[in-house]
Amino acid sequence: MKYPGNVFMISAPSGAGKSSLVNALLKKHTDIHLSISCTTRPARPGEINGREYHFVSVDEFSQWRDENNLLEWAEVHGNYYGTPRSFVEEKIKNGENILLEIDWQGARQVRKQFPDIIDIFILPPSVDELEKRLRNRGQDSDSVISRRLLAASSEIAHADEFEYVIINDCFDTALAQLEQIVATAGLRYPSQAVKNHKLFAELGISYISK
Ligand code: 5GP
Repeated sequence: MKYPGNVFMISAPSGAGKSSLVNALLKKHTDIHLSISCTTRPARPGEINGREYHFVSVDEFSQWRDENNLLEWAEVHGNYYGTPRSFVEEKIKNGENILLEIDWQGARQVRKQFPDIIDIFILPPSVDELEKRLRNRGQDSDSVISRRLLAASSEIAHADEFEYVIINDCFDTALAQLEQIVATAGLRYPSQAVKNHKLFAELGISYISK
């Protein structure tokens, strides 16, 4: 079925600056709703349960997964992550815009369910810069950083599965590029048909979901 709201999906290796870009985008585009994932990873300092993630135990996560309450799930850096199904399905039903921030494994699962998804991969400008950003974050131990650097190269190996690529060298440029994608998505036929339903009806091309 075609839906008037757009589903955006963003992936990146750890340290590419994805979360900062997403936060800045959501601040400017309050009509895009972020899907809050659940994870078994412990909260980092400053993270709040229900804001960055729903922090759950492995048992709770297994229950969500086994009861089919997750749209997708994956093991990333030794922890489980998953997208709660009900939030996404409800927003889609209401024709609203959603953003998923997930890894390539989850992206593969979601693409099968939403072929019209707009998927974007964020790349760092260089390997050196990626490493610097991971170290400057100062929130994880050295062994976690080394593991994430290794994981980053395997995440980057899946960049070619995404339709759009943004290189996050200058933050403002990267944000502007992200906004261009959002603006273009708003011009898709189903989005336009809903936003301009009077004009479409007048022209005899009103939106019929297929
Ligand atoms: P972090 O622990 O640094 O917040 O995230 C680690 C990785 O998990 C990132 O690549 C992020 O995109 C991914 N991730 C976060 N939430 C989900 C999710 O719900 N599903 C999947 N498949 N990956 C996720």
